[in-house]
Amino acid sequence: MESKRQKAKGKNQKVGTFFISFIKLAQPSASHFCLLRFAFCLLLLCVALASAFAQPVSWSPEKLINGAPGVFRYKPATPLKSLSGNFLGKRVFFSFDQASGVWYGFVGVDYDTKPGNHDLGLNGVAANGQKVSFAQIIPVAKGYYRTTAISVPKKYIDPDPADVPRILQERDLKNDVLNRVTEKQLWVGNFVAPAILGTTSEFGSQRTYNGKRQSAHFGLDYGAGTGTPIRAINAGKVILARDMYFEGGCVVIDHGQGLLSLYFHLSQFKIKEGDTVNKGQLIALSGGTGRVTGPHLHLAVRWQGSYVNPATLLGLKLP
Ligand SMILES: [Zn+2]
Repeated sequence: MESKRQKAKGKNQKVGTFFISFIKLAQPSASHFCLLRFAFCLLLLCVALASAFAQPVSWSPEKLINGAPGVFRYKPATPLKSLSGNFLGKRVFFSFDQASGVWYGFVGVDYDTKPGNHDLGLNGVAANGQKVSFAQIIPVAKGYYRTTAISVPKKYIDPDPADVPRILQERDLKNDVLNRVTEKQLWVGNFVAPAILGTTSEFGSQRTYNGKRQSAHFGLDYGAGTGTPIRAINAGKVILARDMYFEGGCVVIDHGQGLLSLYFHLSQFKIKEGDTVNKGQLIALSGGTGRVTGPHLHLAVRWQGSYVNPATLLGLKLP
């Protein structure tokens, strides 16, 4: 109690000292005019920095839901040298679009994220080097997903013991490749469909394989017969191009800002690991390899370790 009262007393003394200094400042003299001018400039700077973050962040699609990607937009009133964010425990990498003066940052809401309000924290550096931060509440709505039943050959449900070492090795490879995060933006403009074909199975449906509940369908299927040309949905770097047990012929492209696209069940590769690809570039021919019921293309999108709906990504309007 005693220490609390002492603290309070100390605080009052400090406030009093500040007030006296301010009165002293208010009495005009040459040096005090300088100080006053400095204080006024400081006040103006604070107002400018506050207004730089006064405008709220907007996003698309209009409703962010669990299992879907989105893009945050932020247009500061005064220029920023850099901007980064934090959302759902992950970093949001922003890049600046000179033409519109808008900062863009991708986000992916995990399938298992609880709907409700989540904080987006933003940290920027103003042109003069001053650090600025800002927080905004972002609502996440509930995504609704169906249940579907699938029948596949028995070896994909209970693999042959001889295949287990390969499966485990590929699991380690996937843990490495699929969790890679490149900060720099490699994508350019809107994402495009990998093939001009109808889709046959949507993202997020709960799947039972041969009667057993396995997992949700974390991709978008296209009805592609064997040999259909498959194109990169945006520019990026090929970080995986090889045959896998479950995925069959598999290509993974890193688009930067934590975003990856994955293409499964391919019959032939037209690129190799390490290649840089352009948007719409031919990367492979589709097929029916790996765990499939028949030939098709399975397109998946990941953002920093979370699968998100490719259909939402393909519908986003980007700079
Ligand atoms: Zn699929």
